[in-house]
Amino acid sequence: MTVLVLGDQLNASVGPLADRPDDRVLLIESMGLARKLPYHPHKLTLVFSAMAHFRDRLRESGRAVEYRQVERFADGIKAHLDAHPGDELVVMRPPSYRAGERLRELVTDHGGRLTVVENELFLCSPEQFDDWAGDRSSYRHEEFYRFMRHQTGYLMDGSEPVGGEYNYDEENRQTPPEDYEPPEPPVFEPDETTRDVQSWVAETFDGAYDEPPYGGGWADPGPFRWPVTHEQALSVLESFVTDRLAQFGPYQDAMVADEWALHHSLLSPAINLGLLHPRTAIERVIEAYRERGVPLNSVEGFVRQVLGWREFTRHVYRREMPELAGANQLGQTEPLPPFFWTGETDMACLADVIDGVRARGYSHHIERLMLLSNFATLLGVEPQQLNRWFHAAYVDAYHWVTTPNVVGMGTFGSDTLSTKPYVSSANYVDKMGDYCSDCPYYKTKTTGEGACPFNALYWDFLERNAEHLADNHRMGLVYNHLENKDEGEREAIRERAEALRERAQRMEL
Ligand code: FAD
Repeated sequence: MTVLVLGDQLNASVGPLADRPDDRVLLIESMGLARKLPYHPHKLTLVFSAMAHFRDRLRESGRAVEYRQVERFADGIKAHLDAHPGDELVVMRPPSYRAGERLRELVTDHGGRLTVVENELFLCSPEQFDDWAGDRSSYRHEEFYRFMRHQTGYLMDGSEPVGGEYNYDEENRQTPPEDYEPPEPPVFEPDETTRDVQSWVAETFDGAYDEPPYGGGWADPGPFRWPVTHEQALSVLESFVTDRLAQFGPYQDAMVADEWALHHSLLSPAINLGLLHPRTAIERVIEAYRERGVPLNSVEGFVRQVLGWREFTRHVYRREMPELAGANQLGQTEPLPPFFWTGETDMACLADVIDGVRARGYSHHIERLMLLSNFATLLGVEPQQLNRWFHAAYVDAYHWVTTPNVVGMGTFGSDTLSTKPYVSSANYVDKMGDYCSDCPYYKTKTTGEGACPFNALYWDFLERNAEHLADNHRMGLVYNHLENKDEGEREAIRERAEALRERAQRMEL
């Protein structure tokens, strides 16, 4: 018997790895998978270094680990079954679409047998979610989140939510004072294993991130900084709880130039690889509330993201694939502007965030949603092109989590996750961010040279999609504003938006 451990299941405390301590372990490092997209070098370093560390740790604990480095994943399965004919393998169900079925076919084709068991790196099982969801195909997060609070008892006093409310977002949505200096996020100096992986990644995948013809090789990333072991992931959690959790809630939606982490936990790269169990993160944060009096609005805000949103996206993806990946209900067809790869734009907000993504493969949630996705959606970019970019550019990206976030929430390609698009003009960017004061574009101008592109694109987006959106009662107010604009103003907006779309493609924004 062999426990097959996939690259995003690096956790020895759950599933077959924990249940079968004497069985052999198989890990397969596939270069083919790493070539599927122009991945950010930090993503590749993170995954391969975390796998190598995990292998070493299992071996140190006395386990027999076979680690196969191959071009195609199938080659690794074949080599294993050549060495152990007829072997029986067991694996936790991967969250990506049909991945479990494909693995089973692969093993069977080579004369083995594969049992796929539940993935214990998530908190809500498919049965639980399906019981809650019934036959619906449009899902509301808040309802699911309340269900999960009751199921798990997290932040509950019997059948009532702690503090009397399920959600304290009203107390959040603040911006930090000018010159605010958030705590320094943790950095992990690459050890010898990570340095070896870095060199190998540099030799093997050179040129991957910047897609030709837009750039000169890789994204010139900054120093690699992400946790690659369970211990390092725990130390990110500790530093979050000690230094940043208290202000997590209030500043969750804030955007500050040159401050890429603010009070976010930076835990997604580790959680999505299995290095940190979501339960560990939630329970540690609740402990800080109970023992140290960390404010409830921050604690609840964090619990909601992990217990609610993360589980929600996984299951909506599971149920709505394959349609979700290709969904494009607004019929958007614009190509992704090349500056998403290069960062070359005068728009201060986008330039700062894209530079950060190039440097470290990360930006926080509200930058992903209200800057990058918002801008791409207003411009009319096809959701699938944006999804591909997010998947390639971020260290925490996997198809199961980018797809609902980008195609569902970010671009409103599908209405399975939200009832209206997350779009805004420069108004929101200015309210929640501090970019506009140093930007050559004028945040209050809609048309004419120098007007902030978010403005004309916003009104143009509403007009272009009126048939689909104008009857949406949550959008009534903005459509009233649009109707109050006279035909001359609307024509100027259309012309400006068209010019901006062309300039975006020519990298002249
Ligand atoms: P925090 O702000 O500290 O949040 C805590 C944790 O909550 C995160 O670590 C994550 O595990 C979970 N979480 C929060 N929001 C979500 C969400 N919407 N979906 C799933 N988990 C959530 N998350 C990814 O893990 N991988 C992605 O590739 C990804 N792509 C995204 C693309 C877009 C367009 C948008 C709008 C969101 C995306 N998210 C993605 C969700 C979210 O932005 C990230 O989980 C978060 O920014 C990670 O940083 P953090 O760990 O500092 O999060």
